[in-house]
Amino acid sequence: MKNESLVRMPFNKPFIAGKELYNIAQAVINGHLAGDGPFTKQCHAWLEKRLGCSKALLVHSCTAALEMAAMLCDIGSGDEVIMPSFTFVSTANAFVLRGAVPVFVDIRPDNLNLDDKKIEQAITSKTKAVVPVHYAGVPCEMDAIMRIADVHDLFVVEDAAQALFSSYKGRLLGTIGHFGCLSFHETKNIISGEGGALLVNDKRFVERAEIIREKGTNRSRFFRGEVDKYTWVDIGSSYLPSELIGAFLYAQMENASTIISARRRIFERYYNLLRPLEDEGVLRLPFVESECAGNGHMFYIVMRSLDERTSLLEHLKKEGILAVFHYVPLHSSPAGRKYCRASGSMEVTDDLSGRVLRLPMYYEMGEDDIHRVVESIKRYFRIMREKSHVL
Ligand SMILES: *Cc1c(COP(=O)(O)O)cnc(C)c1O
Repeated sequence: MKNESLVRMPFNKPFIAGKELYNIAQAVINGHLAGDGPFTKQCHAWLEKRLGCSKALLVHSCTAALEMAAMLCDIGSGDEVIMPSFTFVSTANAFVLRGAVPVFVDIRPDNLNLDDKKIEQAITSKTKAVVPVHYAGVPCEMDAIMRIADVHDLFVVEDAAQALFSSYKGRLLGTIGHFGCLSFHETKNIISGEGGALLVNDKRFVERAEIIREKGTNRSRFFRGEVDKYTWVDIGSSYLPSELIGAFLYAQMENASTIISARRRIFERYYNLLRPLEDEGVLRLPFVESECAGNGHMFYIVMRSLDERTSLLEHLKKEGILAVFHYVPLHSSPAGRKYCRASGSMEVTDDLSGRVLRLPMYYEMGEDDIHRVVESIKRYFRIMREKSHVL
């Protein structure tokens, strides 16, 4: 017997736009498989044109882009870098690798982003950079952050892993700080399996970024015929992805508008269908300021308690729907306790990280899929209400 409700709904489903394998075959036929072949260059040009940044460089992950940004900021032993604790580990790890101490600032209760009003009190003589993380593709308060950075002479590295094509007051995320870091991991909007890009928004850093990405050599200049031999000139590592990644990614880029608008539509459907539950006060929906636009990266709800989140996750799982939660705040993780410190209270982070629940979100989600999730959530609250009446 076939029961529709028993068909498991995944949390994420990587979307294939169509020309990925064709492009990979082209790359193989072209005979250029190492980095910076024609497809990779097309990806660079596409990012530079569509986002409007001085230089975009494909790298093998957003983690790699963050590591490069840390080197470009000349982060060294004992330096401090301000960031949220409510983020993915790479935000902190990239700076810890350079000997720096991530200093955590609490998040805002409305959008779960770095609380710009708490940044200044965390600044010391050792502070070198601020890393705003645009959680769920929703912009941080960039005007305030850029102003603080300017006054205190700090670098701004945007962790825009989730934020491709989200905008803040008309400007695309990742292009506002000194550096922007993007991810093309298969869980993000535009994907290449693993992959990322470093956006260099300040021209002064372009040449060094190319060097760091090419194992600390001036190979990029050599290929452009600007020097007659290439050699080791700086620190660096191997951050450039294979041309096969660029070939795959370019097929996605060509379909970016379709992908993003489909995801925005899913976001809106979730939002409108769940609105009555927010009005009842049993959960909270994401908040996006009117001057900003999200990119449909993620749909999360905020439950009233950790217990409710746990029981809703179980309920959804029983009905074949895979929802997830994140993050374990970095300040309470084993490595976070060892390498980082918190500035002030982490009250909002501790509270909200226990109540956030992420719903399935992927390009191919149809209206019936969205309804299935929403109906399941409504059923959960009905069951809970009935139980509490019986008691
Ligand atoms: C996904 C993600 C990363 C890491 O991206 P990778 O490409 O997997 O290295 C970093 N920061 C945030 C906020 C992310 O969501």
